[in-house]
Amino acid sequence: MGWYKAHATLNKPNGSRLIDKCLFCGQHKEIKATNFVLEFSEWERETGNICKSCYVANAVKVTAYQ
Ligand SMILES: [Zn+2]
Repeated sequence: MGWYKAHATLNKPNGSRLIDKCLFCGQHKEIKATNFVLEFSEWERETGNICKSCYVANAVKVTAYQ
């Protein structure tokens, strides 16, 4: 029973899940991208982590502006 779990660590995807502080909401969540560039204006930029939910929300907002 449950013998298949013996190799669980070998099947773990490499770096697929990263929990860190999100640049947008400031909460520790699952990170979607670690090098997301947040543009406040033409000359103000910040690179950091963005969680899944913020990534989706931001993507929708950016699309709406275009
Ligand atoms: Zn977030």
